[in-house]
This record gives sequence, C-alpha cells and structure tokens, in this order.
Amino acid sequence: MAISQGDWVYCENGTGWLFGLDGRLGDQELKFRDHSVGRVEKIEGRFVDLWLIGPNEKWRVPRTEAKRVKVDEVGDQFSHKICNICHRRLTVDKFSVNQINSKGRVRRPSCKRCRIDIDRRPKKPSQAKRIAQQRPKKGDLFICPICLKRSIVDVTANIVADHDHHTGNFRAFMCGSCNTGLGRFKDDKVVITNAKRYLEQHDSLDL
Ligand SMILES: [Zn+2]
Ligand SMILES: [Zn+2]
Repeated sequence: MAISQGDWVYCENGTGWLFGLDGRLGDQELKFRDHSVGRVEKIEGRFVDLWLIGPNEKWRVPRTEAKRVKVDEVGDQFSHKICNICHRRLTVDKFSVNQINSKGRVRRPSCKRCRIDIDRRPKKPSQAKRIAQQRPKKGDLFICPICLKRSIVDVTANIVADHDHHTGNFRAFMCGSCNTGLGRFKDDKVVITNAKRYLEQHDSLDL
C-alpha cells in the first residue's frame, strides 16, 4: 500500500541509516529494533525518512521496508498491537493479559519485554525488619510527607512503605494515594516538574 507523509508505518526488519543529533545522515547501515513504528517525515525516491517515536530517533529506510499501519486495525481485538513504550507493532500474544471482561481479554498497553523494565524491583528482604520497626504504630498520628494530610494510622489512614522502583530501596512511609501518584508519574522528577509547570501555566491563564 502506498504511503504518504504523516502516515504511521512499521519496519519489519529494522535496517536503515540513523540521523545524528546534528541532523546529518550516518553513512553506515545500522539495525534498529524490528517492527518499530514511526511517522513518515519525508519520502524521497526509494527512501523514506521516519521518526521512530519509541527511541525518539530519525532514520532513513528503504521504501520497501516501511509498511503502513492502519491505526484503526491495531489493538486487543486485532492480531497486532503497538506497545506504548517501545512503539513496536507486535502480535497481541507479546502483551500479557491484564483482565478478562465482557469485551474479552484486556491486555497490558506495554509489551512483555518493556514490562520487565517497569515492574517494580523486588523489595529487599534485608530491609524488611527495619521497615517493620520504623512503621508508625496503630493509633499514631501520621502526616504524609507529600500531601501533608493528617491521619490516624490504621484507623483513618492507609500508609505504605514507599520504595525506589529502580533500586528496590525503601524510602519512606506515605499515604497510599501519594504512593500511587508517584508511580503514575513514573517516579520521574522531569515528569513531575512538567506537571507542576503545566498547572502553573493554566493558573496564569485564569487571571
Ligand atoms: Zn515494548
Ligand atoms: Zn499523601
């Protein structure tokens, strides 16, 4: 099928030439991850320039390598799905089933391979005793270090031991809601700073 600028395509083999950060095209043919999805930036003769949004790289590939992705025909109910992290178009069995509901199987948005990187590192058993000792006791006053909400431990509060997902190290106790919040922001300071800036920008628009 013919492709045009702005289309989403996938590359079965993943071979091409990488554009450097200076915008210059490398002279050596290299490999990128097979089945990567990219957006067509430019079509020139027998070549197509793509922006692979998973690794955030620009590549030039042979036109025959770039196959169009029909965005209405990927997902759990089809044969293929695009991973929300690596952005490769993979068969649905590469995504684990999260739950089964009335519509059938619901698979995770990230492929099994990418999940390995996201899933929390096992908590260190060596720290378990210290954490148990440090944990506030039932009936204590607890103030969450993030949202500053006050609560009575195990009475009005669900407090959890927060861990660094990269190292598995215990960090501190906090309310369950803030712990989930940090996870939603991927424990990433840049993402949290962006969220703060976003809120500030929209505050100023209201003035
Ligand atoms: Zn993936
Ligand atoms: Zn909190």
